[in-house]
Amino acid sequence: MSQHQSTIFVTGGAGFIGSAVIRHFLATTSTAIVNIDKLTYASSLDSIPEPARQTSRYVLARTDICDGEALRELFARYRPQGVIHLAAESHVDRSIDGPQEFIKTNINGTFTLLQEALRYFRTLAPSERKTFRLLHVSTDEVFGSLGPEGAFTEQSAYAPNSPYSASKAASDHLVRAWCETYELPCLISNCSNNYGPYQFPEKLIPHMIIRALAEESLPVYGDGQNVRDWLYVEDHARALQTILAHGKIGETYNVGGRNERTNLNVVDRVCLLLDRLQPSSRGDRSRLISFVADRPGHDRRYAIDASKLERELGWKANENFESGLEKTVRWYLANKAWWQAIRQSGYDASRLGLVAPAAQDGARLG
Ligand code: NAD
Repeated sequence: MSQHQSTIFVTGGAGFIGSAVIRHFLATTSTAIVNIDKLTYASSLDSIPEPARQTSRYVLARTDICDGEALRELFARYRPQGVIHLAAESHVDRSIDGPQEFIKTNINGTFTLLQEALRYFRTLAPSERKTFRLLHVSTDEVFGSLGPEGAFTEQSAYAPNSPYSASKAASDHLVRAWCETYELPCLISNCSNNYGPYQFPEKLIPHMIIRALAEESLPVYGDGQNVRDWLYVEDHARALQTILAHGKIGETYNVGGRNERTNLNVVDRVCLLLDRLQPSSRGDRSRLISFVADRPGHDRRYAIDASKLERELGWKANENFESGLEKTVRWYLANKAWWQAIRQSGYDASRLGLVAPAAQDGARLG
């Protein structure tokens, strides 16, 4: 990788959103990318297709963000102009069963990254300091649950309810503090639920597509009326590029596409699309829907007001939920090898996050 190209670090670049960010940067810019990823169960190197992986503008550094020494070496070697920090444990149900990894990666990992970014930042010449940025990618879940009206803004109070959202909230606070106290030039984005190609099959939309294709039951938590605000992942990747390039240091930007849907409506739409694109001889897929025990602490409604990002930085979502969902369903139909490999490697799609009695008495905590 040439020292003269502009270089950014993407942490978590073998995950769902990180890989979309890398594909987007490689396709639309001349920036070189160092993908810093520990390669957990949630990662897939195939999410960055072969031609892109082969370019001299892309390097994979198999590294844990909790490893300060390794990060220090990467900063010294590649001297990036920016960092987009996505590496995290990201699945709420897993955070209920095993919060420890969430604390380690999302809090301690972010702390370690901030320390090493700061150490590196202080070695930069004044002109280089002017342009260096660290963008921390976070979630709307840090704001907790909404009532039937209104939307989260950048002024909403933090009220995380799950171990996942609490760990992300903690990391947001660390980033803010490193910016205010040490003047590390940071930005934060809080985004709503993403969907699209290459999402790990444990998340709602791919989970339902894959189970429906296998004629398995489609388990909807609780009454199915929990509302999420959906954003197509490529719109998120563009938003992150925009915020890194044009965002104001120390500011937070909400990212969302104004696509509120109940979970039941999402599952219904997946069924209708599959019925149209790949009909089943056994009849409509909606016959597979079943209601199961709710997730403990299940937030009722999220909605994002992204008008600051739209107004100040000119970003706008390209996809609405209908167009994005059709693209997504078509992608999972056309790329069965990608998700079948994940299923064959041991992911069994079983129900997680129910707070089993054994976990409540401490036997399985950790
Ligand atoms: P993901 O689980 O698909 O990918 C996470 C990636 O991080 C994986 O490749 C994994 O190997 C890597 N990783 C985990 N621990 C690591 C460690 N200790 N060191 C280095 N790499 C590590 O997650 P995602 O859905 O792509 O989410 C990416 C980021 O965006 C997360 O920070 C998440 O909180 C945030 N976010 C996600 C959503 C969403 O809907 N998926 C919405 C808003 C914000």
